[in-house]
Amino acid sequence: MCCRVLGVAEIDKPPGVWCPHCTPGHGCRIHDQPALPHDCAEYVCFWLQARQEGYQFPDALRPASSKVVAVPPKIEYAGKETHNVRCAPGYPDAWRKPVVNKLIQGLISHGSTVYLVTASGETKRIRQA
Ligand code: SF4
Repeated sequence: MCCRVLGVAEIDKPPGVWCPHCTPGHGCRIHDQPALPHDCAEYVCFWLQARQEGYQFPDALRPASSKVVAVPPKIEYAGKETHNVRCAPGYPDAWRKPVVNKLIQGLISHGSTVYLVTASGETKRIRQA
């Protein structure tokens, strides 16, 4: 899902379209090759990062299931984290699903700023419910 939802500047892949190197359902065909973009080699989605760190993120939050990709936080000034959340094409309201919204509200309540990035690239700050 990340290979569809996110853009990869290094290979001029815009957000919202499948990467030409991806076989949907199987993954990246160049993942073990030198041609793999640096950003892809470094990237771990928030769901996977959290699971790797031992947090009990449910399977329903996995981007392929939730249709939402949450990019790991960037640290802003004063130590505050910012998360960007993108929905898969055709699922613009996926971030409103209870399982996703619970995560978003949890991040906000812990001091993070969460932005919804729309398909057209606009960002909208999600406020506390
Ligand atoms: S190069 Fe591979 S990992 Fe990067 S977006 Fe394309 S398919 Fe995904």
